[in-house]
Amino acid sequence: MAAIEMRNIVKEYGDGFKAVNDVSIDIADGEFMILVGPSGCGKSTLLRMIVGLEDITDGDMIIGGNRVNEKAPRDRNLSMVFQNYALYPHLSVFENIAFPLRLKRGVKEEEIKQRVEEAAATLELTEHLQRKPANLSGGQRQRVAMGRAIVRQADAFLFDEPLSNLDAKLRGQMRTEISRMQRRLGTTTVYVTHDQTEAMTLGDRVAVLRKGVLQQVASPRELYEQPVNLFVAGFIGSPPMNFLPAVVEKTRLRLPFFDLDVSAEVAERIAQCDLVLAGVRPEYFEDARVVDASKRDAGTTFRARVDVTEWLGDSQYAYLPFEAPPEVVTQLAELAKELDTEALRTQAVVSIDSMSRMRENADA
Ligand code: ATP
Repeated sequence: MAAIEMRNIVKEYGDGFKAVNDVSIDIADGEFMILVGPSGCGKSTLLRMIVGLEDITDGDMIIGGNRVNEKAPRDRNLSMVFQNYALYPHLSVFENIAFPLRLKRGVKEEEIKQRVEEAAATLELTEHLQRKPANLSGGQRQRVAMGRAIVRQADAFLFDEPLSNLDAKLRGQMRTEISRMQRRLGTTTVYVTHDQTEAMTLGDRVAVLRKGVLQQVASPRELYEQPVNLFVAGFIGSPPMNFLPAVVEKTRLRLPFFDLDVSAEVAERIAQCDLVLAGVRPEYFEDARVVDASKRDAGTTFRARVDVTEWLGDSQYAYLPFEAPPEVVTQLAELAKELDTEALRTQAVVSIDSMSRMRENADA
């Protein structure tokens, strides 16, 4: 197994366009690292540079303490699982899994059999070993691709959106399976996705990229609770964080629905800003009808018009439009375009406690 260190990695394509721009990430031995970001942010390019399928323009790629920039993919001892699985249709499941071992010289037939059977048992594929890929479900094919990665006893697993071709239910199952497998084997893993749930549930840490530039590397919890900038704040979380435009009056922020007091230090920092936004996650709102009156804060309790409500079974959200001066609306629209985010809108999304729903039903 191996640690992966990326030092100031750059990928420049012919026209001078930097798909990956000065990215440094340290992935510890045995760590599960997620690379996430919007389409085109450079996450696949970065993964392909780790595995050796893409030349590195600048910087150092260090795997297990060795610089591998000039090493061919086959000499890096990494296993990559692709989105389309890349299985051989004419070979059985057994032979598909055995394939990388047959490429290695000197692996005895007995050992091949043992390793394939072990991997198949881990992935619950034992009863399908003689089948061809065409006769397997999407999830089973995915597991065969993972089996092939396991038997190689590679130093690291690299996944490029491996679940995006599966339906929602199977994706959930496979997510759990990948997580379990990684924990059992303890193999360093780098996993590219644009799926929020995968990013937040699978990895030990998540690296967020935007336009080739690394924004933040942190645990899922830290990303959620302490995003370093507006982009990460708006990208992580579904529905996204609300950004409420503020009118600053000394230490008081006048927001669309309520006012908020900030510390003198924060007030000083934001005094010179053109635009001040208060980031409030949907779940930080409570339905006042279900909060004990004695616990309500009169300063932040408000009435608002509900535009739309969404019921998702285990949660419910309400959309509350708000007014803002035309110049603020323009600023928000410009920022939204620049950051390519849905989060900056003149409406807030708030979660409604399921208690209030139950009470409504009871009242009805
Ligand atoms: P997605 O989630 O859509 O797969 P991504 O984050 O994985 O996106 P990459 O595939 O890494 O993005 O691409 C990063 C950027 O580099 C994109 O703007 C893409 O158009 C560009 N790019 C990728 N390959 C080439 C190439 N061979 N020549 C020029 N530009 C390229």
